[in-house]
This record gives sequence, structure tokens and C-alpha cells, in this order.
Amino acid sequence: MRIRNKPWAMDYLKEHSHIVDITHTYKQNIHDFFDEEQPLHIEIGTGMGTFITELAKKNPDINYLGVELDKNIIIRVVEKIVEQDLKNVRLVLLDANFIGEYILPDTVSKIYLNFSDPWPKTRHAKRRLTHNTFLTQYESILKSGCPLQFKTDNRGLFEYSLQNLNAYGMKFEEVRLDLHDDEPEANIRTEYEEKFSGNGNRIYLLKASF
Ligand code: SAM
Repeated sequence: MRIRNKPWAMDYLKEHSHIVDITHTYKQNIHDFFDEEQPLHIEIGTGMGTFITELAKKNPDINYLGVELDKNIIIRVVEKIVEQDLKNVRLVLLDANFIGEYILPDTVSKIYLNFSDPWPKTRHAKRRLTHNTFLTQYESILKSGCPLQFKTDNRGLFEYSLQNLNAYGMKFEEVRLDLHDDEPEANIRTEYEEKFSGNGNRIYLLKASF
């Protein structure tokens, strides 16, 4: 995702520290960031935040944490949260490589990965959000039996993820090879999903638990 550098980004984010944690104040303490104590769902790599904000509106009894490493992109999610006055979505400016340090074990009820960067070169495999480096951390923070849900249009990343999750010993609950053929009513399309589907790409989905 290419987005122009905003020199004022950090100042803007500091002014919105009630919505986005840039200093990692809520490390190992995320429930204090929310008004209500409710189940916690996480999206990693929010992009501009259509998915997480729509989901939060539909499910006010769930707390959503968006994890995004790009300060210029996360601003767009903050803007949506402010405009819609959403109380159950909060954000952290964080590289997901550190998610297991930021979130306490056994506290998360669902993790979403949407259109994660594919990193097609083998030497970059460790950067894929479905690599074991990440799976071990997801396993730690997810409550027992709770799912990881993944959507992509990238066939290579989808096949890699199926193989890797299977090798890791995860149990598949749902696998769809064409999500938009008979699209479930509950599906919320992300920005990338709209774009890639509009280009005629097939959308893949998997849901699995540890
Ligand atoms: N999920 C959005 C969608 O479907 O429209 C955005 C997809 S975009 C291809 C991937 C997003 O993940 C980018 O915003 C990128 O900055 C973020 N990202 C990539 N690696 C990340 C990481 N290690 N930790 C947190 N965010 C990451």
C-alpha cells in the first residue's frame, strides 16, 4: 500500500492517544484501553480500516484492536473511528513481530489477517504473517480453540498458508476457494478485497484454530 509520507503524522497520532497507542502504554494491559470489558478480537495490518470499523459497528459487544505498523496509514483508521465515534475499536502502532510481547497470553478470541503482504521470495518467507514466527505468537495470545481467519487474493500466499498451518497442526474450520461466489452476508469487504475482486481476482478464505 503506497501512501504519501505525512510529516505531521506523529503529532496527529499523539493528539489521538485515546484511540491509538503509539507509546505502547497498554502493553500487557490492553483491556484498560477500552471503556467496556468485552471479548477482544484483533486485526493485523488494518490498512485504512474499513473492515475493522464496519465490524465494530455491527458488534458493539466486542472490543477490536487494530495492529498496523505504518503511521501514515493508521491515521486513516483513526479518522474513521473519530468520525463514527466508535468506542469499541482501538489501535496500536506496532510491528506484528512483537504482538506476543504486547498482548498477554490467552486473552484474544479471534485474529483476522486480511490481504497480508505476500512476500513471494523464499528469502522473505519469515515476513509472511502466516509464518511460524507469527503462528507461535498467535497460539500464545489466542484463547484455547479460538480462530485465526485469513483472506487473500494471492494464490501463492494462500497455498503457503494452508500448508504451513496444516504442518503446524492447526485445525481447519472453513476453507473457501472463491469467497465471492455465493458471498456470505456477513462478509465485510476490505479496501484491497474490493480492488482485487473488481479486477476479477478470486478471493480465498481460511479459518483455523490451534
Ligand atoms: N487489510 C487491509 C486490506 O485488506 O485492505 C490492508 C492490506 S495491505 C496489503 C497490508 C497492510 O498490513 C498494510 O497496511 C501494512 O502496513 C500492514 N502490515 C504489513 N506487515 C505488517 C506487520 N508486520 N505488522 C503490522 N502491520 C503490517
